[in-house]
Amino acid sequence: MIGLISATAAGAAARDRLAAAWPDRTRVYGGPVADAVRAAFAECDRLVCFLATGAVVRLVAPLLHGKADDPGVVCVDEAGRFAVSLLGGHGGGANELAREVGEVLGAEPVVTTATDAVGLPGLDTLGLPVEGDVAAVSRALLDGEAVALRAEVTWPLPPLPVGAEGAYTVRVTDRIVEPADGEAVLRPPTLVVGVGASKGAPVEEVLALVEGALREAGLSAASVAELATVDAKAGEPGLVEAARRLGVPLVTHPAEDLAGVAVPNPSDAPLAAVGTPSVAEAAALVGGGELLVPKRKSAGSPAMATCAVVRRPGRGRLAVVGLGPGARDLLTPRARDELRRASVLVGLDQYVDQIRDLLRPGTRVLESGLGAEEERACTAVEEARRGQAVALIGSGDAGVYAMASPALAEASDDIDVVGVPGVTAALAAGALLGAPLGHDHVSISLSDLHTPWEVIERRVRAAAEADLVVTFYNPRSRGRDWQLPKALAVLAGHRAPGTPVGVVRNASRADESVRLTTLAALDPATVDMMTVVTVGNTATRQIAGRMVTPRGYRWQEETR
Ligand code: SAH
Repeated sequence: MIGLISATAAGAAARDRLAAAWPDRTRVYGGPVADAVRAAFAECDRLVCFLATGAVVRLVAPLLHGKADDPGVVCVDEAGRFAVSLLGGHGGGANELAREVGEVLGAEPVVTTATDAVGLPGLDTLGLPVEGDVAAVSRALLDGEAVALRAEVTWPLPPLPVGAEGAYTVRVTDRIVEPADGEAVLRPPTLVVGVGASKGAPVEEVLALVEGALREAGLSAASVAELATVDAKAGEPGLVEAARRLGVPLVTHPAEDLAGVAVPNPSDAPLAAVGTPSVAEAAALVGGGELLVPKRKSAGSPAMATCAVVRRPGRGRLAVVGLGPGARDLLTPRARDELRRASVLVGLDQYVDQIRDLLRPGTRVLESGLGAEEERACTAVEEARRGQAVALIGSGDAGVYAMASPALAEASDDIDVVGVPGVTAALAAGALLGAPLGHDHVSISLSDLHTPWEVIERRVRAAAEADLVVTFYNPRSRGRDWQLPKALAVLAGHRAPGTPVGVVRNASRADESVRLTTLAALDPATVDMMTVVTVGNTATRQIAGRMVTPRGYRWQEETR
């Protein structure tokens, strides 16, 4: 919950805008400001104060407890120009909140935490628990000192400027370790704890079993990703509460799935009760991995719980990211986040140039020239298989005549894949031309590099007969000059010479050009590989210099 506090009329107006934008996340604290701040500080995870920073500093100073517990505090100035992350930038979430508040109110977020300011991820913002000498290692990273990475398990980490050696260390492990001076320990969620329980098993018995098993095996509870059990135990109070206290989800699996998992210690009791010869071991192993702690029973008599611990295989992550047509503000926020999350970036050199400034220090960039598509796709997948966080980029939408399909054709189910859609050229061009895609439309690539011309021509003919608006991608290059005239001739067999045609070159880039012409008047020589050509259907009109395809044909008749 985000507590909102204001003192003045202007502050209250901004406060109300925020409350209206986030009705479920915010609570307004009225009354005397000092009381309001105290109440919100006690009750909320984060505060937005429409007050001077000095006033807020004085009010919260006596309430401060520690970095781990205090809520994040953001201050917005009277004019609504700045959203200042005042307290709890990382752990309290104030930096993130300042950015979000900035977006809603049109204010500039002000973030002073060092790692954010230089674009380095703070060690405490990687989404993983971190222990040890975090402050010293963060400072070393910031100062550009040598920091060594010691990864004992593979996990797709965001980029960190780390190397093989250094006076400081970032250690990635799920084992219990005593961090040395200058060592920060990251805890990846590698461990799955399978649990079984008899009806009514007490939570204390379950917890003592799980914690004892981890401790004796030298494994850190901070690396536990989930408790896993059989569907029939989804509501077993001792398991539900144990998961809650460990701060992890309780994941359940159907008995049939568990029965199919090979385990070292099957037994008859669970087979009779829930239909699988193993619950704890099978639930831990069902996603694959290495059994670190075989089934063991709790200390009660009779023992009411069992558990087993598995280290799941590190799964790499492949994000296939569309960058949009070129302009920075047509790159989606989600694409930007994925670019900053990846430690390896794979793409065509000219697209890498488009977003290089967004990458975090330490990102490994694997760029290649035109044509090396298969190779790029393979490289991206290989890096993900090695457990890296990889972003494979493409212009427009990465799934449209681009890298997504060759990459996913290579990828197996041992990596996670996320796609981020981008504004494809047909849409960027459409917005510049007017509303050419108002009715059914199709995109056709005129490149016959991978597709025989007969196939392409058949599709153009089908589109012509079906009266579809057509956008040609890859319309013409130096070596491929007869295809566009040929395709236009096919369309002209079914459409009037005056049919509007939009020619958009470098949409949203510095040398953007937009021309509206007709089927008869289009000069193919003005078209190149930076261009898309959109041909209207029989209802498309030029209206006030814009290309407009009506939503239906009847509408067009009525308005004639
Ligand atoms: N994945 C890209 C398309 C790749 S095919 C997308 O979704 O947009 C390459 C073709 O796309 C080019 O030959 C050109 O026809 C078109 N194209 C890509 N970006 C463009 C832009 N900014 N302006 C005009 N055409 C563009």
